[in-house]
Amino acid sequence: MRKPFHWIIAAVMLACGAIGMTEEWKSGVNWAEPRVVDTSTPIPSDAKVLFNGQNMDAWDGVKDWVIQDGYAQVGSNVRSKEKFGDCQLHIEFATPEKVEGDGQGRGNSGVYLMNRYEVQVLDSFENKTYFDGQCASLYKTRPPLVNACRKPGQWQTYDIIFKAPRFRADGSLKSPAYVTVLQNGVVVQDHTEILGGTYYENPPSYEPHDGKDSISLQYHGNPVRYRNIWVREL
Ligand code: MG
Repeated sequence: MRKPFHWIIAAVMLACGAIGMTEEWKSGVNWAEPRVVDTSTPIPSDAKVLFNGQNMDAWDGVKDWVIQDGYAQVGSNVRSKEKFGDCQLHIEFATPEKVEGDGQGRGNSGVYLMNRYEVQVLDSFENKTYFDGQCASLYKTRPPLVNACRKPGQWQTYDIIFKAPRFRADGSLKSPAYVTVLQNGVVVQDHTEILGGTYYENPPSYEPHDGKDSISLQYHGNPVRYRNIWVREL
Protein backbone atom coordinates (compact mmCIF):
# COMPACT_ATOMS: atom_id res chain seq x y z
CA MET A 1 0.00 0.00 0.00
CA ARG A 2 1.31 3.45 -0.79
CA LYS A 3 2.13 5.82 2.02
CA PRO A 4 1.62 9.37 0.78
CA PHE A 5 2.87 10.74 4.13
CA HIS A 6 6.39 9.43 3.40
CA TRP A 7 6.38 11.16 0.07
CA ILE A 8 5.50 14.42 1.78
CA ILE A 9 8.43 14.08 4.25
CA ALA A 10 10.81 13.21 1.42
CA ALA A 11 9.61 16.21 -0.57
CA VAL A 12 10.09 18.53 2.43
CA MET A 13 13.63 17.19 3.10
CA LEU A 14 14.50 17.59 -0.55
CA ALA A 15 13.24 21.16 -0.47
CA CYS A 16 15.17 21.90 2.76
CA GLY A 17 18.33 20.46 1.21
CA ALA A 18 17.86 22.55 -1.85
CA ILE A 19 17.75 25.73 0.19
CA GLY A 20 20.63 24.72 2.49
CA MET A 21 18.68 23.55 5.54
CA THR A 22 20.54 20.27 5.88
CA GLU A 23 20.33 18.54 9.21
CA GLU A 24 23.49 18.73 11.33
CA TRP A 25 25.14 15.50 12.44
CA LYS A 26 26.35 15.43 16.06
CA SER A 27 28.61 12.80 17.58
CA GLY A 28 26.55 12.54 20.76
CA VAL A 29 29.75 12.17 22.79
CA ASN A 30 29.71 14.23 25.97
CA TRP A 31 33.21 15.67 25.71
CA ALA A 32 34.65 17.53 28.67
CA GLU A 33 35.29 21.16 27.81
CA PRO A 34 38.96 21.71 26.87
CA ARG A 35 40.84 23.66 29.50
CA VAL A 36 41.89 27.18 28.61
CA VAL A 37 45.65 27.60 28.13
CA ASP A 38 46.98 31.10 27.77
CA THR A 39 49.40 31.13 24.86
CA SER A 40 49.83 34.88 24.67
CA THR A 41 53.09 34.52 26.60
CA PRO A 42 56.25 32.79 25.37
CA ILE A 43 55.57 29.83 27.67
CA PRO A 44 52.08 28.26 27.77
CA SER A 45 50.31 29.00 31.04
CA ASP A 46 50.06 25.34 32.10
CA ALA A 47 53.73 24.53 31.46
CA LYS A 48 56.20 23.71 34.19
CA VAL A 49 59.45 25.55 33.75
CA LEU A 50 62.54 23.40 34.27
CA PHE A 51 65.05 26.09 33.32
CA ASN A 52 64.29 29.75 32.95
CA GLY A 53 67.81 31.05 32.52
CA GLN A 54 68.37 31.71 36.22
CA ASN A 55 69.25 28.49 38.00
CA MET A 56 69.11 24.70 37.87
CA ASP A 57 67.00 24.33 41.01
CA ALA A 58 64.57 22.01 39.20
CA TRP A 59 67.32 19.43 38.68
CA ASP A 60 69.28 16.90 40.70
CA GLY A 61 72.93 16.03 40.07
CA VAL A 62 74.04 19.51 39.03
CA LYS A 63 77.83 19.74 39.15
CA ASP A 64 80.16 21.97 37.17
CA TRP A 65 77.35 23.50 35.14
CA VAL A 66 77.95 27.02 33.89
CA ILE A 67 74.91 29.27 34.14
CA GLN A 68 75.16 32.66 32.49
CA ASP A 69 73.44 34.88 29.93
CA GLY A 70 70.24 32.84 30.21
CA TYR A 71 71.74 29.48 29.30
CA ALA A 72 73.07 26.48 31.19
CA GLN A 73 76.11 24.60 29.96
CA VAL A 74 76.37 20.93 30.87
CA GLY A 75 78.88 19.78 33.45
CA SER A 76 77.24 16.57 34.70
CA ASN A 77 74.31 14.27 34.07
CA VAL A 78 71.20 15.82 35.59
CA ARG A 79 67.65 14.67 36.10
CA SER A 80 64.56 16.70 36.79
CA LYS A 81 63.35 16.58 40.38
CA GLU A 82 59.79 16.33 39.16
CA LYS A 83 58.80 13.22 37.26
CA PHE A 84 56.74 13.03 34.11
CA GLY A 85 54.91 10.47 32.01
CA ASP A 86 53.06 11.54 28.86
CA CYS A 87 54.29 15.03 28.12
CA GLN A 88 55.18 17.78 25.70
CA LEU A 89 58.71 19.02 26.21
CA HIS A 90 60.24 22.17 24.79
CA ILE A 91 63.99 22.51 25.05
CA GLU A 92 66.56 24.63 23.25
CA PHE A 93 70.17 23.64 22.76
CA ALA A 94 73.35 24.80 21.10
CA THR A 95 76.33 22.62 20.33
CA PRO A 96 79.73 24.29 20.84
CA GLU A 97 80.59 27.04 18.39
CA LYS A 98 84.18 25.95 18.54
CA VAL A 99 84.14 22.66 16.65
CA GLU A 100 86.15 19.93 18.28
CA GLY A 101 86.15 16.18 17.76
CA ASP A 102 84.13 14.28 15.20
CA GLY A 103 81.37 11.71 14.97
CA GLN A 104 79.88 11.01 18.39
CA GLY A 105 82.58 13.14 19.98
CA ARG A 106 81.27 16.45 18.63
CA GLY A 107 78.66 18.31 20.61
CA ASN A 108 77.26 15.20 22.20
CA SER A 109 74.57 15.41 24.88
CA GLY A 110 71.07 14.00 25.00
CA VAL A 111 67.54 14.45 26.22
CA TYR A 112 66.28 11.37 28.03
CA LEU A 113 62.56 10.84 28.48
CA MET A 114 61.82 8.95 31.68
CA ASN A 115 65.57 8.79 32.29
CA ARG A 116 65.81 5.97 29.69
CA TYR A 117 64.83 6.94 26.19
CA GLU A 118 67.36 9.23 24.53
CA VAL A 119 66.63 11.77 21.86
CA GLN A 120 70.17 12.41 20.73
CA VAL A 121 71.75 15.84 20.88
CA LEU A 122 74.81 16.05 18.67
CA ASP A 123 76.52 18.45 16.29
CA SER A 124 75.38 16.79 13.08
CA PHE A 125 76.11 19.80 10.89
CA GLU A 126 78.50 18.36 8.32
CA ASN A 127 79.54 15.73 10.80
CA LYS A 128 78.70 12.16 9.87
CA THR A 129 78.19 9.37 12.32
CA TYR A 130 75.96 6.29 12.32
CA PHE A 131 72.55 7.54 11.27
CA ASP A 132 70.65 6.16 14.23
CA GLY A 133 73.06 8.04 16.45
CA GLN A 134 73.03 11.45 14.77
CA CYS A 135 71.27 14.50 16.15
CA ALA A 136 67.51 13.99 16.63
CA SER A 137 67.79 10.23 16.35
CA LEU A 138 66.02 8.07 18.84
CA TYR A 139 69.36 6.69 19.88
CA LYS A 140 70.26 3.42 18.15
CA THR A 141 66.61 2.94 17.27
CA ARG A 142 65.64 5.35 14.48
CA PRO A 143 67.48 8.07 12.52
CA PRO A 144 65.72 11.41 12.14
CA LEU A 145 63.54 11.78 9.02
CA VAL A 146 65.81 14.60 7.87
CA ASN A 147 68.92 16.37 9.11
CA ALA A 148 67.53 19.72 10.32
CA CYS A 149 70.65 20.77 12.22
CA ARG A 150 71.81 24.34 12.39
CA LYS A 151 75.43 25.34 12.48
CA PRO A 152 77.56 24.81 15.58
CA GLY A 153 76.87 27.49 18.19
CA GLN A 154 73.41 28.36 16.85
CA TRP A 155 70.39 27.86 19.05
CA GLN A 156 68.05 25.06 18.04
CA THR A 157 64.72 23.83 19.36
CA TYR A 158 63.29 20.46 20.17
CA ASP A 159 59.57 20.10 20.67
CA ILE A 160 59.00 16.59 21.86
CA ILE A 161 55.68 14.82 22.31
CA PHE A 162 56.12 11.70 24.35
CA LYS A 163 53.75 8.88 25.13
CA ALA A 164 54.99 6.76 28.00
CA PRO A 165 54.94 2.97 27.83
CA ARG A 166 52.38 1.01 29.80
CA PHE A 167 53.15 -2.16 31.70
CA ARG A 168 50.84 -4.85 33.02
CA ALA A 169 50.79 -5.81 36.69
CA ASP A 170 53.10 -8.75 35.92
CA GLY A 171 55.65 -6.34 34.41
CA SER A 172 55.09 -7.30 30.79
CA LEU A 173 54.77 -4.57 28.18
CA LYS A 174 51.18 -3.55 27.50
CA SER A 175 51.94 -0.77 25.03
CA PRO A 176 55.25 0.73 23.91
CA ALA A 177 56.30 4.34 24.24
CA TYR A 178 56.09 6.68 21.25
CA VAL A 179 57.88 9.89 20.47
CA THR A 180 57.33 12.71 18.03
CA VAL A 181 60.07 15.32 17.67
CA LEU A 182 60.18 18.64 15.87
CA GLN A 183 63.65 20.09 15.46
CA ASN A 184 63.63 23.76 14.58
CA GLY A 185 59.97 23.33 13.59
CA VAL A 186 60.62 20.40 11.28
CA VAL A 187 59.28 16.91 12.03
CA VAL A 188 62.22 14.59 12.56
CA GLN A 189 60.51 11.79 14.50
CA ASP A 190 56.92 11.04 13.57
CA HIS A 191 55.19 8.96 16.22
CA THR A 192 58.23 6.70 16.40
CA GLU A 193 57.80 3.53 18.40
CA ILE A 194 60.34 3.28 21.18
CA LEU A 195 61.65 -0.28 21.44
CA GLY A 196 62.96 0.10 24.97
CA GLY A 197 65.65 1.90 26.90
CA THR A 198 68.41 3.20 24.61
CA TYR A 199 71.97 2.09 25.29
CA TYR A 200 75.42 2.37 23.79
CA GLU A 201 76.38 -1.24 24.37
CA ASN A 202 73.07 -3.08 24.18
CA PRO A 203 70.01 -3.23 21.93
CA PRO A 204 66.97 -1.35 23.18
CA SER A 205 64.95 -3.26 25.72
CA TYR A 206 62.13 -2.59 28.13
CA GLU A 207 62.12 -3.14 31.80
CA PRO A 208 59.00 -2.20 33.77
CA HIS A 209 59.06 1.15 35.52
CA ASP A 210 56.76 3.65 37.15
CA GLY A 211 54.33 5.74 35.15
CA LYS A 212 56.42 8.83 35.74
CA ASP A 213 60.15 9.42 35.84
CA SER A 214 62.68 12.21 35.41
CA ILE A 215 63.66 14.00 32.27
CA SER A 216 67.45 13.77 32.08
CA LEU A 217 70.16 15.66 30.28
CA GLN A 218 73.35 13.89 29.34
CA TYR A 219 76.89 15.02 30.00
CA HIS A 220 79.11 13.51 27.33
CA GLY A 221 82.18 15.66 27.88
CA ASN A 222 81.16 18.36 25.41
CA PRO A 223 80.12 21.89 26.50
CA VAL A 224 76.59 21.79 25.08
CA ARG A 225 74.25 24.58 26.18
CA TYR A 226 70.56 24.53 27.04
CA ARG A 227 67.94 27.17 27.63
CA ASN A 228 64.16 27.65 27.81
CA ILE A 229 63.17 24.24 29.09
CA TRP A 230 59.52 23.69 29.87
CA VAL A 231 57.19 20.74 29.96
CA ARG A 232 53.46 20.21 29.81
CA GLU A 233 51.92 17.07 31.20
CA LEU A 234 49.51 15.39 28.83
MG1 MG B 1 74.07 11.54 23.54
